[in-house]
Amino acid sequence: MPLVSMRQLLDEAAKGGYGVGAFNVNNMEQIQAIVGAAKETNSPVIIQASRGARKYAEDKYLFHLILAANELHPDVMIAMHQDHGNSFDTCKSAIELGFTSVMMDGSLKDDGKTPSSFEENVEVTRRVVEFAHERGVTVEGEIGVLGGVEDGHGAGGSGLEHITDPDQAVEFAERTGVDALAIAIGTSHGAYKFNKKPDGSVLKMDVLIAIHEHLPHTHLVMHGSSSVPKELQDIVNQYGGHLNPTWGVPVEEIQLGIRNGVRKINVDTDNRLALTGAIRKVFAETPEKFDPRDYLKPARDAMQKLVALRMTQFGQAGHGKDYTPLTIADMAEGYRSGKLDTRPSMAAH
Ligand SMILES: [Zn+2]
Repeated sequence: MPLVSMRQLLDEAAKGGYGVGAFNVNNMEQIQAIVGAAKETNSPVIIQASRGARKYAEDKYLFHLILAANELHPDVMIAMHQDHGNSFDTCKSAIELGFTSVMMDGSLKDDGKTPSSFEENVEVTRRVVEFAHERGVTVEGEIGVLGGVEDGHGAGGSGLEHITDPDQAVEFAERTGVDALAIAIGTSHGAYKFNKKPDGSVLKMDVLIAIHEHLPHTHLVMHGSSSVPKELQDIVNQYGGHLNPTWGVPVEEIQLGIRNGVRKINVDTDNRLALTGAIRKVFAETPEKFDPRDYLKPARDAMQKLVALRMTQFGQAGHGKDYTPLTIADMAEGYRSGKLDTRPSMAAH
């Protein structure tokens, strides 16, 4: 099967009451780890690439590596997503390359750093939706601003500075027609999210629940949702790394989100930690080794194990063959006919 629409994966996840992990990639081993985990757990999956990843791996390498995964494992449903598109042009180039989904992060200006106005965000996101939906491609928007920086993208600061306002989220969904919406509830990108186990004062699950009540037809997305488990930090530190103690988003909070409309969960940091820990272990224990396969293989295995665990925790495991994938052309027809319209005023009919 060809790459599938992210919208369809998320619609099916909503029906089944589960979430779908969206895992970031930069290279072959990460793609193999994710697809290996999807096969192992019978999961549909979202593979995503940031602007930084597209630059690092070069568009064509990255795209063809994902196509190779798709060709080798035609039974695995894969949606390919642009993470944090900073402008119309970035999203357009991803769509032209063959991505089946894009994020237009209009919460920041196109420098990827400065918070934008609500009107600017609506305008650029609406333009991307129009271009993408005509071609059957899914769009994720963002309202509110996440904390931290990742791959050079982000406003920095704590995640509490620009929490999403539920009424504004409704207006945004109505005026843009996005399929999925990333919301800011106190999470941050990168490894350093919280300096203690997060409670309600820093992780605003009540805001998430309110947004879902207002917007039941728009799939919610949690960014900055690595759990940054202590075991993974410990492995890195045990073998010569130096990470300061940090806390991520506990899996049980993500699961609470999934019970309240979260359908896409972005995970990057945890995988980076798993890879780095495994590589450090080989370097520390067998310093005589120098064949890259000697450390990349255990790294890939460690990431696959972690991704498989997250797939089980998010509930997507076992749902890899529940439904027949639609083509991107089918999706374009669905948008044209209004069948896939998520705007609050339309979706109620
Ligand atoms: Zn993000």
